[in-house]
Amino acid sequence: MNAFEAANHYISKASRIMNLGPRVERLLLSLEAEHHVTIPIERDSGELAVFSGYRFQHNSARGPTKGGLRFHPTVDADEVRALATLMTWKTAVVNVPFGGAKGGITCDPSELSQGELERVTRKFVERISQEIGPQRDIPAPDVNTNAQVMAWIMDQYSRQHGFAPGVVTGKPVELHGSEGREAATGYGVICVAENFLHDSGKCLKDATVAIQGFGNVGLFAALFAKEHGAKVVAVSDVSGGVANRDGLDVSALAELARSRRSLAEYESDGASPITNEALLTCEADVLIPAALGGVLTPEVAREVRAKVIVEAANAPTFPEADEIFEQRGITVIPDILANAGGVTVSYFEWTQNLQCLRWTEREVNSRLQQIMTDAYGTIRGLVQSRKLGWRTAAYIVALGRVAKAAMLRGV
Ligand code: GLU
Repeated sequence: MNAFEAANHYISKASRIMNLGPRVERLLLSLEAEHHVTIPIERDSGELAVFSGYRFQHNSARGPTKGGLRFHPTVDADEVRALATLMTWKTAVVNVPFGGAKGGITCDPSELSQGELERVTRKFVERISQEIGPQRDIPAPDVNTNAQVMAWIMDQYSRQHGFAPGVVTGKPVELHGSEGREAATGYGVICVAENFLHDSGKCLKDATVAIQGFGNVGLFAALFAKEHGAKVVAVSDVSGGVANRDGLDVSALAELARSRRSLAEYESDGASPITNEALLTCEADVLIPAALGGVLTPEVAREVRAKVIVEAANAPTFPEADEIFEQRGITVIPDILANAGGVTVSYFEWTQNLQCLRWTEREVNSRLQQIMTDAYGTIRGLVQSRKLGWRTAAYIVALGRVAKAAMLRGV
């Protein structure tokens, strides 16, 4: 099953339970548009390089399409298609007025200079500038893209269309970005984990947590987990990871990551190295995959020791692994709920941009917490009343909202 088929597997499952019928199911499975462009740039050496760029829009029934832009060597049409689809369900789960889209450039940003990265970004925006816009499709950060990349996108788009900060979210706070956006996904992940543990008669304060991935999402998830009293026992980045059963010094690790050094360089008494694979099956109450998709394979699923998995990454679990978790009584809080904090604060940023006003960090965080808690509560209600898994329940909520909007607007 490829990534897109895996994403659609859950839609078909929920659609059957809801009796939506083949007509609606077909509508929800197809993408509205797939823009595939080539991006030629001049390297610093004077050589010409040509990259592949994608911006796919899945469904706009509930509003302009929304979703991140990733720069990674494995980006291809199938992955972008799957991730665009996920964004439609994610925005519907948290009930923000957007549809779903995703974009990406097949490249390894670690092999590009800052100047080359800027040229790739600007050329990409030039190529898709008719397809995006504040009322059309709004990109945001994702794997290997950050506030600086978003600033270039805003600037390039504005050169062609006039000043338009609402064309992209996740911008620097100094350039019409929102307070709290950078931390939002990690904050939402921990908010959901805490609610779940509380409902199970437990508490984050007594829990051990393992986090795979120490980019923007994993780093903030670790910081918030620690702040809420949890013991972070293992973290990793692409270079590998570190573990300590007595709890890691998360602030020191965050410092290391912020100075662009890898976790492999971390040394401290009591901490031992751990591979990315071993981290997934280490002894911890809560497992947070916060790196790339497809890491929880059926083989790994049989060995996982955590009691709950909170999907901070997009699509980390294979459908076959999902079934194994269900059989083993391990709860999986799905990506479309667990990591929706990012797009929720993107919605706040867009709202502030359209109204030309600014919210404080406190205002952003309290609204974020409210939305995450409400979405969690709605899905938990369905899990309990209909004895469903969390992912199926989340898809039922999302599909219901999107199908209703699509029907009201007309095919
Ligand atoms: N890339 C993030 C995600 O997958 C954020 C998307 C957004 O803010 O639009 O949810």
